[in-house]
Amino acid sequence: NRQIRLISRPQGMPGKQNFEFTESEVPAIEEGQALVRTLYLSVDPYMRGRMNDQKSYVPPYKVGEIITGGVVGQIAESRTSEFNKGDYVVGNLGWQEYSVVKAGQVTKVDPSLAPVTTALGILGMPGLTAYFGLLDIGQPKEGETVVVSGAAGAVGTAVGQIAKLKGARVVGIAGSEEKAEYLKNELGFDVVVNYRSAGDIHAAMKEACPDGVDVYFDNVGGEISDAVLSLINKGARIPLCGQIALYNLEKPDNGPRIQGRLLTNSALMKGFIVGDYSARYPEGMKDLASWLKAGKLKYRENIVEGFDQTIEAFLGLFKGENTGKQLVKVAEA
Ligand code: NDP
Repeated sequence: NRQIRLISRPQGMPGKQNFEFTESEVPAIEEGQALVRTLYLSVDPYMRGRMNDQKSYVPPYKVGEIITGGVVGQIAESRTSEFNKGDYVVGNLGWQEYSVVKAGQVTKVDPSLAPVTTALGILGMPGLTAYFGLLDIGQPKEGETVVVSGAAGAVGTAVGQIAKLKGARVVGIAGSEEKAEYLKNELGFDVVVNYRSAGDIHAAMKEACPDGVDVYFDNVGGEISDAVLSLINKGARIPLCGQIALYNLEKPDNGPRIQGRLLTNSALMKGFIVGDYSARYPEGMKDLASWLKAGKLKYRENIVEGFDQTIEAFLGLFKGENTGKQLVKVAEA
């Protein structure tokens, strides 16, 4: 049973030296437990925050501990009536090949609904993040301009498409031409700004948003957000979802650069974590699944093969290597 542990806390950008592969026996299960064989691991930007020794909405990883995160697996052995051998499940488990779970610790995934990987993406945490952040806080209306940063990622691709379903004009911000073409041609975004090639990001955003910005779904923070926030309209709504541009800074960047804009435009900026909406997940899942089934919501997954590729896949999130949800395939079903 191979496992990946955090062995030191990264300063700035993490690297392979912060992690270690270890190996142990596949554990035996007791009455009331089941053994999950990992099929897919999710690597997510929020994990970077958990590598720091700081208080947040999820406790930090402990040095020496196995990294935990979203996993889709299959029941290999069961001594609980809740699971049968062969059932697909999703839950928060370790970066390891096998995990022991007890009843209630993981949720069954219905493979007839959609590929099981979607439980970690469009029909999982990232999809629900897009759904609630956009609809509850952003509240886009027909004809409004919705801007989303980190647009080609797991959350951003869903945000843009849901905003289109609500009749908004959607402007995405992403880091390559290939991503921009995908968002426009396949997902129906109206305009995409490639922030790496745009030069003056302020000017590029101004050109992309001639009527200003009514909703800004912020996945990245930093300079990109400064540029967008300089364009907000009266009464704008800003779901503050992520700050990936700041996660690997060695010194914190908490400059109150935008507060004046919020004030003079009576804008609402509200931070959220997807767990705030846990009581409403069934509602979000129902809409996401029905849009998916109707072909109104598309998704892409960037799946790398092999448990030994997990760390590279995680680091790739900070280099923009993924379009859509980044996953690691650990084993065949
Ligand atoms: P993504 O699939 O979007 O992967 C990360 C992407 O971010 C990369 O592909 C890259 O694309 C972009 N990126 C990386 N570094 C930078 C940078 N310095 N500046 C601008 N863009 C960068 O990840 P997710 O969709 O899973 O997450 C998106 C955001 O949402 C993250 O900030 C995450 O922490 C946050 N989040 C928040 C949740 C909540 O509950 N509030 C829940 C889930 C996610 P590119 O090529 O475009 O640079």
